Amino acid sequence: MEKLAIHGGEKAKTVPYGSGKRFGQEELVQLQEALEQNTLFYWTGNKVKMLTNKFAELYGAKYCVAASSGTAAIHVALGALGIGEGDEVITSPITDMGSIIGILYQKAIPVFADLDPHTYNMDAKAIEAKITEKTKAIVVVHLAGNAADMDAIMEVANRHGIKVIEDCAQSYLCYYKGRLAGTIGHIGCFSLNDFKHISAGDGGLLIMNDEETYKTAFRFADKNYNRFGGKMREIKTLAPNYRMNELTAAVALAQLEKLPMICGNRNAFGDALTEGIKDLPGIHPHKVIEGGKSSYWFYLMRLDEEVLGVDRKEYVEALLAEGVACSFGYIPEPVYDYEIFRDNPNCYPGACPVAEKVIVDSVKLPVNEFYTKQDVEEVIKGIRKVTQYFLDRKAK
Ligand SMILES: *Cc1c(COP(=O)(O)O)cnc(C)c1O
Repeated sequence: MEKLAIHGGEKAKTVPYGSGKRFGQEELVQLQEALEQNTLFYWTGNKVKMLTNKFAELYGAKYCVAASSGTAAIHVALGALGIGEGDEVITSPITDMGSIIGILYQKAIPVFADLDPHTYNMDAKAIEAKITEKTKAIVVVHLAGNAADMDAIMEVANRHGIKVIEDCAQSYLCYYKGRLAGTIGHIGCFSLNDFKHISAGDGGLLIMNDEETYKTAFRFADKNYNRFGGKMREIKTLAPNYRMNELTAAVALAQLEKLPMICGNRNAFGDALTEGIKDLPGIHPHKVIEGGKSSYWFYLMRLDEEVLGVDRKEYVEALLAEGVACSFGYIPEPVYDYEIFRDNPNCYPGACPVAEKVIVDSVKLPVNEFYTKQDVEEVIKGIRKVTQYFLDRKAK
């Protein structure tokens, strides 16, 4: 049995993780051009227009709308699809608050559907079980760079006449059976906050193919002003100001060029990790649906504590001692446990049992585009060593 680092043995991770600079000359050039326009307003400048054109082109979508954040993008999507007071919107219990905020601002009711135990994305059958006559939309979260089972979800949604918003905030260049996540539902939403694959500080993008949806979304992100001709201040319904400014778009334009490298490197790291650990008893790797491609915003594996004879705390402490970066799962409780949902009858302990289990037995491993081949090899080595130690200890 190899001596664990936590017991004084050699660490599996022998060098610091690879790192690098996210921003450079490319962003500076774009920013300078934006400033030289002598306007930073999206309607008079060119950077937001270029960004939305390029993003639509990258995704093969007809239209793209910019917004001030990923949260704003999802709110705009809900507004554009006419979601309002009393409507029910089904979404994931393991996600960022940004998936939910727009639902609440539209006075709609979030309803949480349980997850697939290994992709950690919403399960179509669980979604269908939550559909009522009030259900108007589904916000499908593609968690951590990895696609939900969109064929099954679209089949349910179409059968019930429900709109589908894809929350791709964590999932740039993420593929589902050869198709890009974000292009399968009615609207795809993206985030440019500083923690995502690409950053413009903050910002959001929406893609769609329907012209009416595009126009409604465009107006909804800009006070419902009508910039398509005719009367501009023709305001029938409430909409916020979620405009993106030219500086944000300038940085995002430069970042967009780096997106294929970023997602490619993350995909290679995550897939190599799965290859290296998938035979281990007691470890469930982060599952990618056949024909899909994850851009791994992070890597989430699950422990079978019974098979390993260890609890998550002891496992994580041993892995950390090996020099392998890891933490207890993604979020510490399902979203529906937040105090704000106390009066929502759909929100109670046990509402989504699979999600609750994932939250307590998953281990999160960070992924970054600057990680090296040695990094992935040593992470695998660390996981194998620690796992084998606990398996052997259990067998004794
Ligand atoms: C980050 C994130 C959002 C919100 O994006 P912001 O730009 O931070 O507003 C929404 N949904 C998910 C799944 C996210 O990870």
